[in-house]
Amino acid sequence: MPIATTNPATGQVLKTYQAMSDDQVDAAIERADLAYRQLRATTIDQRARWLTATADLLEAERDEIARIMTTEMGKTYASAKAEVTKCATACRFYATKAAEFLADSPADAQAVKAARAFVRYQPIGPVLAVMPWNFPLWQVMRFAAPALMAGNTGLLKHASNVPQTALLLEDVFRRAGFPEGAFTTLLVGSEAVEKILSDPRVRAATLTGSEGAGRSIGQIAGRELKKTVLELGGSDPFVVMPSADVDRAAEVATTARCQNNGQSCIAAKRFIVHTDVFDAFAEKFAANMAALRVGDPMDADTDIGPLASERGRDEIHAQVRDAVDKGATVLCGGEKPAGEGWFYPPTVVTDLTPGMRMWSEEVFGPVAGLYRVSSYDEAIEVANGTAFGLGSNAWTRDPAEQERFAADLDAGNVYVNGMTTSFPELPFGGVKNSGYGRELSALGMREFCNTKTVWVGEGAASAGAGAHAE
Ligand code: NAP
Repeated sequence: MPIATTNPATGQVLKTYQAMSDDQVDAAIERADLAYRQLRATTIDQRARWLTATADLLEAERDEIARIMTTEMGKTYASAKAEVTKCATACRFYATKAAEFLADSPADAQAVKAARAFVRYQPIGPVLAVMPWNFPLWQVMRFAAPALMAGNTGLLKHASNVPQTALLLEDVFRRAGFPEGAFTTLLVGSEAVEKILSDPRVRAATLTGSEGAGRSIGQIAGRELKKTVLELGGSDPFVVMPSADVDRAAEVATTARCQNNGQSCIAAKRFIVHTDVFDAFAEKFAANMAALRVGDPMDADTDIGPLASERGRDEIHAQVRDAVDKGATVLCGGEKPAGEGWFYPPTVVTDLTPGMRMWSEEVFGPVAGLYRVSSYDEAIEVANGTAFGLGSNAWTRDPAEQERFAADLDAGNVYVNGMTTSFPELPFGGVKNSGYGRELSALGMREFCNTKTVWVGEGAASAGAGAHAE
């Protein structure tokens, strides 16, 4: 895949980049390793000042950063600006909370026959981050902010279609004060990942991307005995039960499916609706979807911009055609528009059956699958009947049913009467083919830490656990 900016709204190639040579990559890894030694010797306060300065720069330069993101991958300018703000918020969160998350945690010294015993969280070294284009700033920041605060360094291999966003991230961290090599963008294709991850100086990897990329990186990391966090695809269920506020559910369903032009791992993709409210929900949902405005992503009135690539648009159209050819019904959309740009209309498809691609595959665009069920048990069976397990949504005003959904949905998160999203305060990640490991919260920061047990016998000095703050 060429490393290039191609505007999805026009199909025009705006800027191309030469991939870095092996020697350039080697030098970047060396700098990341040296910077790691430097960074781990700094205090949390110092790193917090750099991360706070990163937040300040993001906020000050928000509009220009957002314009680059929109130009590279087609998200609306309004959502790009919101993404920059969210990244700044995450930087401030980790700058503020790192001392708490990295503080020694005391253990029961008596139980382990020690004078004192505790757990310490220390950085592990350069971490390779292989990232996708769909939230080109946020996906990187939710790894980088906690990793840098913990004293690790980052090597970013970003998606090949967002090189300008990748380069500006490196530039922002450098201008915020982080040492040379603390965060480096590697302009390389995916074929370079194996060699980088096999380098002994690279200690771990995090990937956000497709199942295929996850399998590949997981295999390499397994062979090299390196820690990985894998954030992969999803086909999130959005269940609507008879007691739900159907109007509100249909409204939120529209956003949940079409946010980011439908290209979100945690977008609701399968709408599983109880037969008692199916017709009312289907009518409102299809009307809401059809009313969305598709167009120039820089235009403030646009709800949905183009898909990020022609290949991505062809793929979702093929999934819709496959369903229709096998007997599904299109309630709205479903036609590929002529003209420049990779636009696709909001689409709702129902009468889906096993054997159709939409039944089992992730649909990465503004296309919703609508399923009718007649009981709670059937809703759970359809919701969990997927290889993925990232997010999930349930709509019910019955408190007992809310508890049951929380227990029974087989996913990394359950949102009841709301749409799945992410917060720096809450862990984020999946189960099954959606990957493993967690980002965000204290857990996300500790994924790339050495959780070190310290046991001290009799004769120790009296200082207890908690004194340390690396
Ligand atoms: P992708 O094709 O897997 O690409 C993601 C990144 O992995 C890119 O940097 C890509 O590089 C690289 N890559 C691809 N194949 C690789 C391989 N075999 N070895 C090493 N690196 C490889 O995914 P995408 O199409 O950009 O993104 C959409 C997918 O990401 C969807 O499945 C979506 O659900 C998932 N996603 C998951 C989360 C989450 O948090 N769980 C969040 C966002 C997106 P190139 O660009 O150079 O090919």
